[in-house]
Amino acid sequence: MWPEHLQQLLVQAEQQRQERSRGRYAPSPTGRLHLGNLRTALLSWLITRLQGGEWLLRLDDLDTPRNRPGVEQTILDDLSWLGLHWDGPVLRQSERRGLYATVLSSLRRQGLLYPCRCSRRLLADISAPHGRSPVYPGFCRQRPPHWGAEQGRLPSWRLRLESGELSWQECLGPAGHLEASTEVGDVVLRRSDGFLAYHLATAVDEALLGVKDVVRGLDLWHTTAPQVALIQSLGCSPPRYWHAALWCDPEGERLSKRDGGQGLPALQQQGFDAAGVVGLMAASVGLVPTGTRLSAQELLASSELEPLRQRLAGKA
Ligand code: GLU
Repeated sequence: MWPEHLQQLLVQAEQQRQERSRGRYAPSPTGRLHLGNLRTALLSWLITRLQGGEWLLRLDDLDTPRNRPGVEQTILDDLSWLGLHWDGPVLRQSERRGLYATVLSSLRRQGLLYPCRCSRRLLADISAPHGRSPVYPGFCRQRPPHWGAEQGRLPSWRLRLESGELSWQECLGPAGHLEASTEVGDVVLRRSDGFLAYHLATAVDEALLGVKDVVRGLDLWHTTAPQVALIQSLGCSPPRYWHAALWCDPEGERLSKRDGGQGLPALQQQGFDAAGVVGLMAASVGLVPTGTRLSAQELLASSELEPLRQRLAGKA
């Protein structure tokens, strides 16, 4: 069903997932990390290390026009400065395109994808203003598959999701389930211009890297359903998901990478050292009293997984 080398990778990854905890932090190098991003990194590191697991650092850098030069290095520097050291080499999605393309063609051959000719304009016109991306109404589902260009445009490719509940193990956020056809819809995995979608790359990576615990921001909660469907279609067991609360400013607005004042340099200028920042982040979710100074290692040594989970779940 899968090309042999992919099959081998899938089997190895599944073994890894059964044997050992593995977590990952997956920032996009689109702007300097702010305190909220760094807190998610801290929690991801903590949750993985509390289980004696390996912690991977993966840069989600497929969206090349949005990548900003020099940001990658600031991410590595900021994490290291905080004492959040990752295992193995830094992984970059831009270096794994071949893998995503192999999975995409296999899914296509198995009939799990279909070509879509709907223009963005058409979809924008019919979408209800919910904020979150609208559910695709399935216009192209029944059309005979035709791979070639029509009116000079290649199709995009969508994952065909059967109706029914898509569920996942959610450790922090709202219970993990969405209905496939009414709440998720057939997501695009490859755009007509060849761009590989976030869902595809992320799901392939969780599956093939043997990731067991995904800790990320609550804003990504709804992206989990299609990713889990994809991971399952690869024959892998999905990770557990920990969607952690977002950091908000005093006005209740979530922090944004565009506002550079919310990252480490501003705190460093105010005289904060790493222990001060780790303490600030840990206190913000009630793990330590306000004003505590401690290193990431000290936080690890004084934490336990289940009480930590309960504390964070109360905030998410
Ligand atoms: N790269 C995504 C971001 O920075 C996170 C992806 C994920 O954790 O699944 O928002």
